[in-house]
Amino acid sequence: MSLPKATQKLLANYGDPLPSHTFPNGYPLYYVDKLACILCADCANNAIKEELAGELWDECDLPIMCESHLEGPDMECENGGCGYKIEAAYEEDDGT
Ligand SMILES: [Zn+2]
Repeated sequence: MSLPKATQKLLANYGDPLPSHTFPNGYPLYYVDKLACILCADCANNAIKEELAGELWDECDLPIMCESHLEGPDMECENGGCGYKIEAAYEEDDGT
């Protein structure tokens, strides 16, 4: 079993297992898979673990990108049944 280059790069750049927040700033991180679905760190790590064990059903579930979520509405992990909320680092300025 081998991980796609983009996934290997994530692990090299961010650490293994993939973190849920940046260090040292503590910005929330989210991951994006090949189908442009949002993944929380747990689901991203699970997909990698399953792939390495030869158990991943669809390699499209592997994370290939990582972004920090700085502002805006909460994001939700789109992995089936997870629904983990990824909150932005800064509260939204609603102009009040
Ligand atoms: Zn998730």
